[in-house]
Amino acid sequence: MACKQFDRAANILQMDTKLRQRVKLPKRCMAVSCPVQLDNGEVVIYEGFRVQHHLTMGPTKGGLRFHPKVDLGEVAALAMWMSWKCALVGLPYGGAKGGISVDPQKLSLSELEHLSRRYMQEMIPFVGPNTDVMAPDMGTNEQVMAWMMDTYSNHIGSSVHAIVTGKPVGIGGSQGRREATGHGVAYLTKSYMKDLGIKPSEATVVIQGFGNVGSEAAIAFNNFGMKVIGISDVSGAYYNKNGIDIKAALQHTAKNLTLEGWKEAESITNAELLELKCDALVPAALEQVINKENAAKIQCRILAEAANGPTTNSADTTLSKRDDVTTIPDILCNSGGVIVSYFEWVQDLQSTFWTREEVIQKLYKVLDRAKQQTEEQKTKLKVSRREAALTLGIHRVAEAKRIRGLFP
Ligand code: GLU
Repeated sequence: MACKQFDRAANILQMDTKLRQRVKLPKRCMAVSCPVQLDNGEVVIYEGFRVQHHLTMGPTKGGLRFHPKVDLGEVAALAMWMSWKCALVGLPYGGAKGGISVDPQKLSLSELEHLSRRYMQEMIPFVGPNTDVMAPDMGTNEQVMAWMMDTYSNHIGSSVHAIVTGKPVGIGGSQGRREATGHGVAYLTKSYMKDLGIKPSEATVVIQGFGNVGSEAAIAFNNFGMKVIGISDVSGAYYNKNGIDIKAALQHTAKNLTLEGWKEAESITNAELLELKCDALVPAALEQVINKENAAKIQCRILAEAANGPTTNSADTTLSKRDDVTTIPDILCNSGGVIVSYFEWVQDLQSTFWTREEVIQKLYKVLDRAKQQTEEQKTKLKVSRREAALTLGIHRVAEAKRIRGLFP
């Protein structure tokens, strides 16, 4: 999917064939074995990956995913998308992504700690605050980042705050980082609603996925005055036309891990959730959930891609022919996370701290600029919004490579 998107964008840009492969292929791919002794004494080897897509504009940047579906191909695609995302919003980074093929919910806290530390230990030769900076992604959180930072710092012999972002605030994390991705999604959706003449006070939102991104987006949508009428997670999907009480749903997941047993909304299937009539549909979980089965059937005014790669290329073709759906492409829509990660990295390197208000104002500025540039590119090249965002990001990376030249 990521390669096909790249080829399409490179064709639009009429990119020099000599440059294409250099821009497309990842710089480094690491695959490591992480042996962990479980609480019952058994030793299990977990497969870990990290792909650094390009180091042309600065260190690589991107999340670390713990999920049973993780493999090298997925991580490489996600790393590529991080490159275009960072370049689109103007961050001095290349893209990266890492992952371990594991279901973190099946591990005890100490098993999770051992696995996280072992992964970082294996990656030490390849990462650094000026080489590759990790952050949370699906299945990882602030605690995992704290273990990563501690493991790396122990190796160096002093605290290296800038080695990861998305850390707890007490050890160099940034105000506003935890909610940044979801908050950015809601902010951009609100901005597109304004363009379409949709009033936030009358708007309905459906969110697929209730992890960090989905739940923080739900809170931000509520704060902007919008009603969240559908949510879902691994346990199923839940619908309440009068609006779901997000705080109560969060209390439920805090106690039970998932939404299983959530009684304050009607239980529906995941497929039904995605096809609910709403103003904004927000896929905030895995890739490829909007596909050829449902692309013609979704009934939202705005498709806000909080997840990375939630729409398959064939669904994208269907949607591009539908004037009734505005798609906010993933690399723009969910960029709030990496933008505030960048702010965290800058604060760490300078040993300074910004207030939450400062962080949010700066975030809004970067998102507004990226949205405006995407819209201008869309009009200028007469392409889809996704193609506009991709060509902007890809062109910036290609230009940086061209200017730096080819080391003999
Ligand atoms: N995992 C997030 C993403 O996919 C954040 C990456 C970061 O903050 O570096 O954009």
